[in-house]
Amino acid sequence: MTPSFHPRLINDRFSDPGLFIQFLFERRALLFDLGDLSPLSARDLLKVTHVFVTHTHMDHFIGFDSLLRLLIGRDKEIHLFGPSDFIQKVQAKLSAYNWNLIENYEDTLSLKIAEIQGEKLLMQGFNSSNRFEPAGDLRERPFDGNLLSEKSFSVDAAILDHKTDCIGLCLKENFSINIMKEGLKELGLPVGPWLREFKEAIYEGRNPAQTLRIVWHDKDMVTRERCFALGELKERIARISPGQKITYITDMIGSPENIEKAVNLALDSNRLFVESSFLDKERDVARRKYHLTAREAGLIAAKAKVKELTPFHFSPRYFGRENELIQEAMTAFRSES
Ligand SMILES: [Zn+2]
Ligand SMILES: [Zn+2]
Repeated sequence: MTPSFHPRLINDRFSDPGLFIQFLFERRALLFDLGDLSPLSARDLLKVTHVFVTHTHMDHFIGFDSLLRLLIGRDKEIHLFGPSDFIQKVQAKLSAYNWNLIENYEDTLSLKIAEIQGEKLLMQGFNSSNRFEPAGDLRERPFDGNLLSEKSFSVDAAILDHKTDCIGLCLKENFSINIMKEGLKELGLPVGPWLREFKEAIYEGRNPAQTLRIVWHDKDMVTRERCFALGELKERIARISPGQKITYITDMIGSPENIEKAVNLALDSNRLFVESSFLDKERDVARRKYHLTAREAGLIAAKAKVKELTPFHFSPRYFGRENELIQEAMTAFRSES
């Protein structure tokens, strides 16, 4: 089965942490963390609609500037989520630049910033059209663990202790619609943006008798058109399966409270990306720096019964010894699972 999301680490495991999550058949992506974004193309970054920043240590937030630079002058709305004080941190970044010429720009970049403040989510907008001064009043809604909820997926967060609030993140697909290439071939239909509309119709639970019009251009640029009843098309080209769950956890101390929260967040994930900064024999250093050891990372994955584990965010002291960290995490994962 083809998953609808493709998560990939932006950098190697010693460099800045970050996850780029591309949507299949859509020009859309999510970003977890804003460290060094240079491996991502402008084309990739322009797909991003929502950004989730675990905390504002430099290795997780320095990429804000490169994202902003790419977006300036474009007509876009981007949502950014972070832990407590995130609005103030973003505002400080925005106020570092001189925006005296920006009102001449035709297009408006709108940033919607949200921060988790205990049991509340505080929200503040900033627009390029008024030089990124706060736009409107600070708003709030209750926070019960959910940051974003859309028709096909949701993003949840847990507040972890890293001597500062740090948010663990998980992306859950409501259910997964897999497109069968064979079915498309049999009907003579191409892969294309129409599949997004098709999936949306299913996620919305629209009437199966409703007609879906598919328009595309063939190789000779001739416009083609076919109409199907939604239910019939679903039968022929789609398979519905349980949704994927992807969890991303970095950075946190391996305290019992934190580990319990991390396990709950990651429970039954298809993929878990978890920091494994230190070897367990250097657990004292890990504790002092409020980070996990590779063994602790593996145990979290095992307790949460995840299917696939990706340890990352390795301390530079282990350059050339990457395998020791991976092995320690995998051994703990397999011994318990
Ligand atoms: Zn950190
Ligand atoms: Zn970090």
